[in-house]
Amino acid sequence: MGTPAARILVVEDERVINQSVVDRLVAEGFEVRQEYDGPSAVATAAQWPPDLVVLDVMLPGFDGHEVCRRVQAERPVPVLMLTARDDETDVLVGLGVGADDYLTKPFSMRELVARVRALLRRVERAAALTVAAPEALSLGALEVDRARRQVRLDGTLVHLTPTEFDLLVCLATEPGTVLTREQLLDEVWDWRDAAGTRTVDSHIRSLRGKIGAEAVRTVHGVGYALEVTP
Ligand code: CA
Repeated sequence: MGTPAARILVVEDERVINQSVVDRLVAEGFEVRQEYDGPSAVATAAQWPPDLVVLDVMLPGFDGHEVCRRVQAERPVPVLMLTARDDETDVLVGLGVGADDYLTKPFSMRELVARVRALLRRVERAAALTVAAPEALSLGALEVDRARRQVRLDGTLVHLTPTEFDLLVCLATEPGTVLTREQLLDEVWDWRDAAGTRTVDSHIRSLRGKIGAEAVRTVHGVGYALEVTP
């Protein structure tokens, strides 16, 4: 990791878990803050913008879901969600909550650090690609500003998570062309931290929810293509 150290906000109401996550991340060289409930997490993220949020789902005040939505509304921040059970993860993925990755409890600290590093690497890599690529793409009603990592639909700002943004840019590079799930996993997730093609499907679902279902065409058994309506 380069300098300065990435800032990580840890939000978890179970104090023992919170503290062990924080201790481990500090030991790994990250700059870390911790919060125990939804409202404090949103307040801290506003005055100390984190590079990544480790976020428990069930929290006092309002839940991880809502924290994710409010923090992402300010700017795209990668979110690693902590869930209590595997089936809870399934539900959240289905809802397209906007987390970039999920970790089911109990997890090892080694696994947590690996996921955190993978997410940060992805954002760093996407930022590097952004420099080389044309700054703005205009695709019908959609405008994609790569430098600012902003998307507008009919002139209105759409809040995308870092993963949704990278997915859109990847599809937008070749509008109308079908990209397979495997290609998308390679381009957007760089394989290493990919849970599988189900991950692609769930992020496509949440992207559709934000830019319009008709904007992304499904080619059954193959993959996805961005539809451009002039
Ligand atoms: Ca909890």
